[in-house]
Order: sequence, then C-alpha cells, then structure tokens
Amino acid sequence: MKKILILTLFLSTIGCANAFEIVYPQKTTTTIAAPSTFFIGHTTNGETLKVNNSDIPTNEQGNFSYVVKLKDGENIFTFDNGTEKTTYTITKPLPQKITPLEITNTQALTEYDTPKYATIKEDNSPLRSTPVDFGINRLSHLQKGVNVILTGEYESFYRVKLTDTLYGWIDKKYITLNSDAPEPCDVFDYQKSENKEFDVYEFYLRHKVPYAIEENPFKITFYNLDNKTDIFTTRPELKSKLVGYSGNYEGDKFVLKIRKFPKLGTFRPLKHINIVIDPGHGGNESGAIGCSGTKEKDINLQIAKRLKKALRHRGATVFMTRGEDVDMSLTDRVKFANDNNATIFISVHANSLSDTQDPNKHSGTSAYYYYPESKPLAENILASVNKHAENANDGVHQESFAVVRNTNALSVLVETGYMINPDEITKLESSAFQKKIATGIAEGVVQFFKSTDKK
Ligand SMILES: [Zn+2]
Repeated sequence: MKKILILTLFLSTIGCANAFEIVYPQKTTTTIAAPSTFFIGHTTNGETLKVNNSDIPTNEQGNFSYVVKLKDGENIFTFDNGTEKTTYTITKPLPQKITPLEITNTQALTEYDTPKYATIKEDNSPLRSTPVDFGINRLSHLQKGVNVILTGEYESFYRVKLTDTLYGWIDKKYITLNSDAPEPCDVFDYQKSENKEFDVYEFYLRHKVPYAIEENPFKITFYNLDNKTDIFTTRPELKSKLVGYSGNYEGDKFVLKIRKFPKLGTFRPLKHINIVIDPGHGGNESGAIGCSGTKEKDINLQIAKRLKKALRHRGATVFMTRGEDVDMSLTDRVKFANDNNATIFISVHANSLSDTQDPNKHSGTSAYYYYPESKPLAENILASVNKHAENANDGVHQESFAVVRNTNALSVLVETGYMINPDEITKLESSAFQKKIATGIAEGVVQFFKSTDKK
C-alpha cells in the first residue's frame, strides 16, 4: 500500500476537525477477487463512523480494521461520520477457472527423442522440482555458465536431467540452447584447507555442471558427469552444527566454504560476530500501511536501530543495509550481507494480510527462514521475543523470501507484528514496545549460540 488517501478533512468554523482516513483499499473504486476484504483506517476526535448505517468499532486511538463480505459484481460501501460521506465501489469479478499448480494434463509435456544441450544465462537461476514459478519448490540455484541437459518441456519450463530418476525444471528465460554437447566433465581433483573462519573445499571440474547442496545430512552433489547421469557426491565432515556456508563456481573450480562455530565472548557473548540488520522496504517502497497511516518502512527502521544498539551491547559487530529512508533492492541487501561476511542476517518487517482474512484475529510476532540450518535461530528469536515483549507467538515458518534465501549467513526474517491490527499497530508505534522487541531479538541470538550444541 503506497499512498495514504485522505478522504475527508472537514474543518468547521470553530476550527474543530472531524475526520477519518481510510488507508486500505487505496482507491474508492477498485476490484477485489475475494469473498471478503477489509477497510483499514482511523478516526479522530472520538467520532462515530458508520458504513452502510452500521457502526465501525474503533480502539482507543481510533484505529479500525473492518471486515466486509463481498458478493459477485458491484458492492457499495458508504462511510458517514455525520458530517462527510464517502462511497467505495468494490467489484468482485465472477469466479474464473483456477490454473492448477500441478501437472494434471500429461499431454502438455513434450519429451524429446534426443536430449538438447544448453547453458544457464544468469546467476542464481532457480532449478525447481515442479514446472511452476512458485515458493519453495527449489532443488538448487544455478550460476551463469552451468551446462545442462534438457529432455523435455512443459509450458514455459524445460525439464533438466540430473540422474536417471531425478529431474529439475528451469524457466526457459534462463537458458541459451547450444548446438553441441559440452566436453565430458568429471571432478578430477579436490582439496581441503581451512582458515580462521572457514573450512574450505575446492572441487576441480572440466566445466560447470549442475550441483546441489543438501543439509540433512550435509552433502554436495555434482550431476551430469561425462555428459551422462553420473554423479559425484561427498559429505564434508562437520566440526559443529551448521552456522552458514556458501558454494560458488570460481571459473571451473567449485568452492564450498563452511563457517566454523564462532568462539563466544565471556562478558560480551557476540564479540567479533558480524551481524547484518536489514530494515525492510524504504524510500518509495513503504511496505504495509498501518491503521493509523504509519508506514511499515518507518517502523522497521525504528526497531532496527534499537536492535543495532541491543546487539552491539552484547558485543556484536553490526551493519545495517539502510540507516535512512532510502530505496534498496533485495539483490543489494543480499550483496551487502555477503560482502560484510555476516554470520547472522536479520531482516526486520511488520506484517499485513491479504483480503479474505480478518486483521482483528491476527496478532503477534513470526519468524521466517529458508534453509533448515537457520530454523533453530528463528525459534530462539521467537521464543525470546515472546518472553521479553510478551507478544503472541505467530509461529516459525519456512518461506522462500529472497533475502533469507540468497544470503550466506544464518538468515531470518522477523515480522514483528501486524500493521493492520488496530491494537498491534498502537504497540508497534510505541518506543517501549520497540525496545522490548529489540531486546527479545538480540537475546534470542545470544540464546541460539549458547544453546546450540557445537557437535
Ligand atoms: Zn514488509
């Protein structure tokens, strides 16, 4: 939600303003394809606001989230505070056939008689388990220059052969077709070394082939060796629980770096640990808009600054992706975290909901991770926020958010609370609650390291 829509500003002759503001929906004429939606906003001066002659309940601050049912076609909602009227027209389109996420029509899959050869066009191209551009169905990410074998296609996807029984799917936009097969490839050497922070494995190949890194158990597999379904798998020995790793081709050499468990300080437990805090959104991107009109980007930055203080107090070296109200792309946030050699990456957000849900029935803090290695960190943070801020536990979830997926650090995205819950936005705006959330997250990071069994 980008813009605040001031609907009515009625100034009486004695200078007393009766006003209400609706921040969602953003436009008075809109289309919403859902059985219900909500009006998010606030009143001032304790006035009574009605919609289609029914009172809208508000909290002490005048905040409201009012759920309305939608019938097919046009729905009219007239708001009236006694002095001003505003009408919303919401059109619910007639139900349409939903495109299935799974392949139900096998006719649509074309299998090639002879395989085609191709090269990946850009870094970080997702290799998916199903031919759908959606969520966490990712087998691996392929770098630019990786050679692949294609054995079929389905809609906008090519089928990528990995072994005789394992296939992946890649969007055609990431592929350049080649006329010839690449030279046969093998892993002809590999060596291990270590430095203060990492165990480093280097794999020497003839050219770039698809690979996958799995965490449970930790292993790396290279596919399509000798231009066939041969594979090379190795399980690097782990000296501790996983606390971050990265795998990348450097030329035709593949470098796997596994972070060593950091040595904790006695008085300042997070001493020498690099932590990157990422206040979500910024600049032109406001994020969610709260009932009161407050923007998520501002709440995120306020909490992030308090978190920076709390983490520094515990000894950490802290970097922020943004310290001001500026635009920053997701790619730049990830690059910033990786360039600063972050052990921990925390993205700070505040939540919103889609139509069909009731903002009055959702509250609390939630934490999101993508890689299993980051799940215990998410759990520790959430348990600690729960304790220190006494906020409801809205769960730990696995989700394919780009900032937690593409960072080499242990990465978590925290949704501190709901912007569109009338009472929760009031809490999120208060400095006392922001401090408690920051303390909760910082203490959760400490607890994670202290409780993690090194072996
Ligand atoms: Zn957000």
